[in-house]
Amino acid sequence: MKVLVAEKCGFCHGVRNAISVAEKVLAAQDDVYSFGPIIHNKDVVERLAREGLRTVSVVEEIPSGTVLIRSHGAAPSQVARLTERGLHIVDATCILVKRVQHIAGELERDGYKVVIVGEENHPEVQAVVGCAQDVIVIADEADLHRLPQNAKLGLVCQTTQDPERFGRVLGAIGRGSFSELKVINTLCREAIKRQESAVQLCRRVDIMFVLGGLESANTRRLAELCAKVNEQTFHLQNWGELDTSVLSGRETAGVTAGASTPDWIIGEFVRNLEAFESRAP
Ligand code: SF4
Repeated sequence: MKVLVAEKCGFCHGVRNAISVAEKVLAAQDDVYSFGPIIHNKDVVERLAREGLRTVSVVEEIPSGTVLIRSHGAAPSQVARLTERGLHIVDATCILVKRVQHIAGELERDGYKVVIVGEENHPEVQAVVGCAQDVIVIADEADLHRLPQNAKLGLVCQTTQDPERFGRVLGAIGRGSFSELKVINTLCREAIKRQESAVQLCRRVDIMFVLGGLESANTRRLAELCAKVNEQTFHLQNWGELDTSVLSGRETAGVTAGASTPDWIIGEFVRNLEAFESRAP
């Protein structure tokens, strides 16, 4: 079968850095913990677990040793609790995520009510929420009732949101009541490039595969955008999850991958697709 791969897909610099930091720490020390999955990809997390990285979700579960802060970051109160326990902290937070955290704190100090457009339960958003006293999370227009009337609003965005959604929410906020609105663009260019290149590709193929963790916000966003253009879009974590009956009668497949999907998962998927003999239904 003919396979086309998105021009821009797979690991971004933030994820690459987090994995490289984890590998270096694991090579030098025992007792290494990750506070939450180091990235949102189970294959990578399992590989690092085989090298000794233990993933925990509660501070109290870490008895001693070194703890890695994952690429999505952690709230200052969580970092303080880790420090209080005497743990050695290695920060692998993506610098763009750090920037959002920093901006949230600054906006609040300047008297703005901090608003973040993003997914309330995503770890990046939760960490940003922890960087100011009272952050309002807006997932979409349905959440706008959470905003106070006539306030000074300071708006940021989860790094991996798609710009259209951010624009829609921004427009809706603009039609509401506020005394001042300050908007800082915190979208990640890496994520946007992957979105643009995936949408271009899925127009040209019979079937589209988006590879990446089911928890990965940027991968889910890619799958949502592709599904709007090509109904035959499938979000899978790896080749093992593919039901090959969906390939029947298809001639050209497109492949893209989220920013936390390693090259070996993409390569294996593409090789297997290329070797697949597509038959008419
Ligand atoms: S997608 Fe962007 S913000 Fe997220 S880890 Fe990668 S570089 Fe950082």
